[in-house]
Parts: sequence; structure tokens; C-alpha cells
Amino acid sequence: MGRIFILLVLPILLMGAVVKPFKWKDGESFLHFLERKKLPLSIYYNVDKEDQKLTEDIPYSANCQMLIDDKNIMRQILIPVNDELQLKIYHVPEKGYKMKVIPIVSESRKETLYLPVDTIPYDDILKTTGSKNLASAFVKMFKGRVDFRRGIRQGDPIVMVYTQKYRLGKPFSMPEVHGAMVEVRGKRYAVYRHRDGHYYDEKGAQYEKFLFKLPMRNPRITSRFTKSRFHPVLKRYRAHLGVDFGARPGTPILSTGDGRVSFAGYSRGYGKTIKIRHSNGLTSLYAHQKSFKKGIRPGSKIKQGEVIGYVGSTGLSSGPHLHFGMYRGSTAIDPLSVMKKKTEGFTGKERKAFLAIRDKMDREFKKALSDKPLRKPHIDFHETYYVDKETFKPKPF
Ligand SMILES: [Zn+2]
Repeated sequence: MGRIFILLVLPILLMGAVVKPFKWKDGESFLHFLERKKLPLSIYYNVDKEDQKLTEDIPYSANCQMLIDDKNIMRQILIPVNDELQLKIYHVPEKGYKMKVIPIVSESRKETLYLPVDTIPYDDILKTTGSKNLASAFVKMFKGRVDFRRGIRQGDPIVMVYTQKYRLGKPFSMPEVHGAMVEVRGKRYAVYRHRDGHYYDEKGAQYEKFLFKLPMRNPRITSRFTKSRFHPVLKRYRAHLGVDFGARPGTPILSTGDGRVSFAGYSRGYGKTIKIRHSNGLTSLYAHQKSFKKGIRPGSKIKQGEVIGYVGSTGLSSGPHLHFGMYRGSTAIDPLSVMKKKTEGFTGKERKAFLAIRDKMDREFKKALSDKPLRKPHIDFHETYYVDKETFKPKPF
């Protein structure tokens, strides 16, 4: 319904006005962006600390949009911060430009992919769905267990059950995989997503190797990761793209894993910050530090558990704490989702819950295998834009 409405209204509204897509320049600061676009810096300084901090987490190459009217006035700019929230810069006649944080409206669909292998799973999934994200998610899930370069034969079945987000009919963001299976020469391998968000094999043995450790001794979490939350009192959308640890100033901060320092310096929002790049495409961030450990500089090789700096309150911070972030590429993810876990298989209630999830997923696999293999048309993921619903309201701007 919503989509039909938008499609009908779009041509009328866009008469005279143009929507220009553009990509966020890698590493460009928000203030620099405003300067480059000849927009007032008050756009940034007039929003509160939390919204200012969000501007430092705009992913590289984010798909942004600009709406320019027939008098060549920039009416609106939309910049996604993640797959749920976006920054909206908008023009109010006679008042100038303002900014606010608004949700990205999307629709989620649960989908099942069933394919017989033709060449190798990665290529087959990519060819069928057009999604690199889905293809690499599949390979990652069976890493270390199934060797897709050997062993697998033409016709061996692959099944994936996942939820994909769509905007205006186009998929975007990472799919959330609920379960996947593959049969290699008659032997079946499966992976299940448990309610804790982690993946397990048929027996409930944890599957991914989590290499990371918490960045502090005796950690005390004061604020968790959230991609988008509506604050009922402030009546605004908020995100917290990391985990906060409360601690006294001067408490040592430890590297979460082996890696190399990619940034050690100051940013307005995060204050004294260190970023460490790890071997698996993840980067950890340690913000609001009082000072860095002597000798830490970009390029330094770091071991897990090594002291890198000390807790402070630099940048836009309300008191001494460590803000600890984790990024896949340049997109913030929940740091706790990649921390080392102690569990050695499930027991009691947790085991019961896992078995129920597993059995339900097995029925979905079975059902998928009894259907015809899916042959979806190719979808071009590069043409995915983030659009603000308000842009399409049938009234003058
Ligand atoms: Zn924080």
C-alpha cells in the first residue's frame, strides 16, 4: 500500500525538483561536507551532542540523496547512519537549514533460497540473487567446516533462510540469516541462529570463532549498543553505536584483539580516540580517552589485552567512561556480538530453546528442498537509495 502511494505521488512532486543521489566521501568529516556544499555550520552546532556524535559514524560510500528545487535551492539532504536511522538536513523557508535524526522506513521480508550448486556456492548465490552480502554470509557460515572448492559437486543443494530489508522495492543492508544448510556428496551440514544472535551447528556447538575480549578488566556496562531507539521523553530518535563502560579516569583500556592501530588522534565527538584494525575486516574503536599509552601511534602492532590508553572524558562526553565501538568495514555493529563466549554447548532451558529453533529450521529446510529451486531475476544492489517518506508527501515543500 505504502509503496503504491509513493509511486503515484513521485512524478507530481518531482516536477521542477530533482533528487540527486551521491555517495558519502570516505573519511570526510561532517563539518567539511557542510563547508564543501556551502551550507551553514550552524546545522551541526544547533543539534545536541548525541546527534553531533552520530555524524562521525556515517559509513564510507553511504548512499545519500539531495533534493534540489526548480530555483536551485537545496531542499533536503538525507544521509544514512546505519540501516535504521538517517540524518535529514532540510530547508525551512525564511529560517534556513536545520537537521534532525529520522528513521529509515523499510520493509522486511523473510525469504528462502534453494539452489542446486552449479559452480561454487558463492558465485551461484551471487548470480541468482545479485547479493554479495548473502553470498559471503553463506560462505562465512560454513568456514572451516566445508571446503567449497573441493568436495562439492554440481547439483548439491544449498538452502538459506533469511530476512532481507527492502526500500521502495529494492533490497538494502545486510540480510539476517536464520539458518543455512548444504549437502556435500550426500552429507548434510547445517548452521542455526540461536536467540542469542550467535550461530551453532546441529549439536549446538558454537560455530564462529570469536576472537575478541572485552576492553577492560572488571567491565561494568552502562550503555548498550542500539541502532535506533525512540526516546519517549525527548520524542526523538537516538542511536548508540557502541558499548559504554563506566570506569574511573585513568583505568587502563585494553585492546580487544590482535591488530594494527589505524587511527590515534582527536575527533570532536569521540575525543581522544584509537582505532585498531583486525585481520577479519573488523575495526575496534576506543573513545573519550584521557591519554594514550606511550608509543601508540598509527601503524603500531597491538596484541590482544595490551594496554593502549586510559579512561577519560574527552570529546562530547558527559563523564569518564570508555565508549567502545566495533565496525564491519565502516558500519557500526554491536561489539558484544563478536566477543568471546564461555559457553561450551547448551544445557537446561537454553538447550531446550535451541533444539526447538533447530527443529523448526530443519522443517523449513525440508520444505524448501521439496519446492522447485529458486531462480530470481538479477537485482542490482548498487541502485539502492535511502529515501525519506516525508519527501513524498503530496504538498508543497
Ligand atoms: Zn557511548
